[in-house]
Amino acid sequence: MREQIVALEELGQMLSPDSVERSNDIQEISKFCSKFIDDLEHEKAYHQPKPLKELLNYDPAKTESILEILSELKSDMMSNGLNPASGGHLGYIPGGGIHMGALGDYLAAVSNQYAGISFGGPGAVKIENELIRWMNSLIGYPSTSLGNLASGGSTANLIAFVTAREAREIHSREYEKQCIYLTHQVHHCVHKAIRICGLKEAQTRFIDVDSQFRMDVNTLELQIQKDIKEGLTPFMIVASIGTTDTGSVDPVNDIATIAEKYKIWFHIDAAYGGFFILSQIQNEDGTFVKNLFKGVERSDSFVIDPHKGLFLSYGLGAVLIKDVASMYKAHYYKAAYMQDTLNSQDELSPADLSVELTKHFRGMRLWLPLKHYGIHPFQSLLDEKILLCRYFYAEIQKLGFTVGPYPELSVCIYRYVPQDGNANYFNEKLLQEVLRIGKIFISSTSIDGVFWLRLAVLSFRTHLKEIDQLLVILNEAKTKALTDTLTKDNN
Ligand SMILES: *Cc1c(COP(=O)(O)O)cnc(C)c1O
Repeated sequence: MREQIVALEELGQMLSPDSVERSNDIQEISKFCSKFIDDLEHEKAYHQPKPLKELLNYDPAKTESILEILSELKSDMMSNGLNPASGGHLGYIPGGGIHMGALGDYLAAVSNQYAGISFGGPGAVKIENELIRWMNSLIGYPSTSLGNLASGGSTANLIAFVTAREAREIHSREYEKQCIYLTHQVHHCVHKAIRICGLKEAQTRFIDVDSQFRMDVNTLELQIQKDIKEGLTPFMIVASIGTTDTGSVDPVNDIATIAEKYKIWFHIDAAYGGFFILSQIQNEDGTFVKNLFKGVERSDSFVIDPHKGLFLSYGLGAVLIKDVASMYKAHYYKAAYMQDTLNSQDELSPADLSVELTKHFRGMRLWLPLKHYGIHPFQSLLDEKILLCRYFYAEIQKLGFTVGPYPELSVCIYRYVPQDGNANYFNEKLLQEVLRIGKIFISSTSIDGVFWLRLAVLSFRTHLKEIDQLLVILNEAKTKALTDTLTKDNN
């Protein structure tokens, strides 16, 4: 028996490399990553998707060297489709991938700290809760508030809705009387979360938006009064700070007044725009970008994505909850008699405030860069993104394009309207041409049947150079499309 055990130990020894092997492994990966980052400037932001050659035929019994594996990844994964690490990623809502964040993940993974329960990982839990308290302080929530570091904005919104449902003690037979107020511009994960948390039978009220796609508070209040009159229960308002389509910011302070007046749970989805609260930019009329956040402290729950606004790699969103007791009530898993220990406990455990138990110690990827660099470089880059978007907004008009509303944050929409022909089709062709070239990646949206091109500036690697490149590409694509149309008409 002992011999057999020793033999098995030896066979598995490969998984515990010695310091020389570890150092070799790290060097190979580190060299590869270094080249990947250095090459980004010359690489495309988008490759037309191609068939996967190397990644097919996975055989778990086979072994390969790290160099072989890296070369497969390079061809099939990293040069295929969208390259989210590229500064040329100007579509959807770009993410990040700052290097120090990746090193934080490495630290978290090597130490494998248990960030689920305070008892098991007091340090890790403290770090995550401190980060949440920092974000709470940014938006003006009291120090007794807490929240959770989730995998992203979708999970964060879901946790908030489950908390709201529990806080209001809504029973299933009352679901269809509950009214949820939002606009057509909310992120689709809001609808998904409403369905997953069981509230799909609730009444969703789509409130009109103004010319800048922001919730109209007069319509909101009228709808609430109408619902009350009909015996329904106004349950929750979902506002956005930075809609995905146009980056619009709902008038949160006015909405808060209504939410307070009618005692409605007020949720803000600021997954994209939340960290612009750090902005120092002053507008031409003397106001500041951060004024858009006036009243956020009056909300009940708030979602903010560090993997967007703080340029981290994918996998970190945060939900902030003002009244943590309702969050605990919705998510704790210990017996109810443990509830009394709430106040005596030094730190609440993430496992009691979310659906997860064992989880990635995702806080470390935020903790390490913040501790090391401080907040100022993040702040500068956020302000740069705002100005880059404004710069584009001005320059694209000089090329004859039509634009949507003036960008409140770092997203804008634009399109070219040719004198003849179908403008939607024309802009689809422009988009295809930009993607065919691939140097810059952009995306589009449709609002009330109108096809718009979108610019979303949020990658820490996007600078003037990439915006200028896009302007040149769009101008050439426009000329080409116009000429194509002319030649077609002549034939
Ligand atoms: C990105 C985004 C989400 C979804 O967040 P994920 O991190 O992708 O899950 C939700 N709301 C808004 C406004 C977003 O921009």
